[in-house]
Amino acid sequence: MIYNYGDCRQDKAVCHLPVIQFLMQEYVNHFDTVVIGSGLAGLNLARKLAAAGQNVFICSKHAITEGSSKYAQGGVAVVNPANLEDSLESHIADTLKSGQGLCNESVVTSILSRSWAQVNELIELGVQFDDGFNLEGSHSYNRIMHVGDATGRAVIKPLIDAVSRDNKIFVSQGYEAMSLIKVKNGSKVIGVKLETLSGQDMEDINQRVMAIDVWADNVVLATGGLGALFQETTNPELLRGDGIALAYDAGAKIENLEFVQFHPTVFKAKSGKNFLISETLRGAGAQLRNSKKALFAENYHPDAEMATRDIVSRAIVSEMRKTDSDFVYVDATKLSKEFLEKEFPTIYNYCLAVGYDLATDLLPVRPAAHYSIGGIKTDINGKTNVDGLYAIGECASNGFHGANRLASNSLLECIVCADFIAESILGLEVDGEVNQKLTDSIVQMESTRSLDENEFDEDEEIEYCSDYQLTNIFEEQEALDANFDLIRQVISKNLGVERREKSIRSTLKYLESLDDCKEKTVATLLTNSALQRKESRGAHYRVDSPKSLNAQARSTILSKDSMTIKDSDRPRRIVQKVAAK
Ligand SMILES: Cc1cc2nc3c(=O)[nH]c(=O)nc-3n(C[C@H](O)[C@H](O)[C@H](O)COP(=O)(O)OP(=O)(O)OC[C@H]3O[C@@H](n4cnc5c(N)ncnc54)[C@H](O)[C@@H]3O)c2cc1C
Repeated sequence: MIYNYGDCRQDKAVCHLPVIQFLMQEYVNHFDTVVIGSGLAGLNLARKLAAAGQNVFICSKHAITEGSSKYAQGGVAVVNPANLEDSLESHIADTLKSGQGLCNESVVTSILSRSWAQVNELIELGVQFDDGFNLEGSHSYNRIMHVGDATGRAVIKPLIDAVSRDNKIFVSQGYEAMSLIKVKNGSKVIGVKLETLSGQDMEDINQRVMAIDVWADNVVLATGGLGALFQETTNPELLRGDGIALAYDAGAKIENLEFVQFHPTVFKAKSGKNFLISETLRGAGAQLRNSKKALFAENYHPDAEMATRDIVSRAIVSEMRKTDSDFVYVDATKLSKEFLEKEFPTIYNYCLAVGYDLATDLLPVRPAAHYSIGGIKTDINGKTNVDGLYAIGECASNGFHGANRLASNSLLECIVCADFIAESILGLEVDGEVNQKLTDSIVQMESTRSLDENEFDEDEEIEYCSDYQLTNIFEEQEALDANFDLIRQVISKNLGVERREKSIRSTLKYLESLDDCKEKTVATLLTNSALQRKESRGAHYRVDSPKSLNAQARSTILSKDSMTIKDSDRPRRIVQKVAAK
């Protein structure tokens, strides 16, 4: 069941807030599991839990379709057991190599061992992958399953259909998670506070900030990445690391946030929107040329255009500096128009629409923030260190990616980890071991509870772990936007493809002077993590310390015990000084 009961800003959906709010408060405000986020990770998990009889609430900040998942182009990395050339061992080895010493090998093995079965579950659900497997950077073999060059959209569609049909799943679109809820002085997360604006017009004095608390036995953060903290990003604007801020405020550990993967080839149209040029295009033979049209990738790494994304991104930044330019070119002119139209319809037609025929024209591109490798620290079962709180997908850090994500391993992670987490929530896990029999049995489980078996004691005192709030006051919103712009500027300037200790330190100081908000919490965590890593490794490159150091071959972990972000003496919304700037 999908209910639009909020400000579905992007889809301009009809809102039935009062009715739904009444329903929620009176009858169904306690769920077995609340999943915050409706990307591939959240949808797949909710579907599995509901199939086992759980009542699940999915909350999505915007429309259910909106998130990185929908924009994924390249595909899902998975080894077909029938392919005797490739092997699970090879996929494991490639993943570990990319992760540069920081992967958890047992997590990598567990996820990849279950990958073929889980991808096939999606095929049974209706995902129609193309025949043939593509090649992407740092994979030893062609193992990328894809649906043209719009894989994400094709993968989430049947999931959205399944979730919409399922009357055990309650979806809210347009409500934003603002805080996790605990029993006062307790350690267990028991719910989430959601807020929305009742309308879309900031100057409409009739619209109100509406808040609702939803209670659950388990709360799962599936809030995606943090790319929108950077000015240049492939991520949708809404992905600012919200889940990381909420988890940190609730006492969760945050791991390896310094590792932000930049996608090397992003095209910026005149409309201002970034558009990703998938590396499968380079896998198919496209090359990189600097602004003087010279090939350069081979000068940086023997794998040239197919080296890992951090290496290609740094090579591009270096060439842009050398040629005093803010772009390099993707040259796909070796590939025929027919091939491009057939294999890369989305990319080819998008470029054509904005004036570039990839069969004949060079396309200007540059790196942009793309994927958050670190996140909320979890085990393979998605469990955080906070009781009742799980994390899945891009917002989580379970040790699969280490210091650098192998291309197309992230959709795979969302698909497979839903299975591990479902097992854990349903009490079926066996010491985190692969257990396919149990996975199969989830679907046959009977419901373990009904809606009116509400164990939550209404007289119990609760506490909100965060104090973020939406505003319905125009001037305040303007000031908050200005505050966010300042965060984005400083993060983009100092925490980009190349970093230096001095600028990282100055970023921390600058962030302290800004007003508290979720974005500031995440930016501060990211900057602190970068400061702690005094070496270069994976996606984190320090110009002033370009080598990997054995002593730093460990994860960066931050929590409220190790650092404080908020200045509780400062009133939260005094933002005039920022707005005036
Ligand atoms: C352009 C692009 C291309 C990509 N291509 C590939 C690829 O080919 N292969 C691959 O493996 N990976 C790819 N990726 C990465 C991959 O798409 C993501 O890692 C993955 O989809 C993340 O899924 P998710 O479910 O964790 O998050 P998302 O799909 O980003 O969903 C996040 C959800 O959280 C919700 N949310 C966020 N904050 C809140 C809040 N406060 N309250 C309520 N809801 C909230 C959002 O509304 C959204 O529903 C690509 C990414 C991009 C941007």
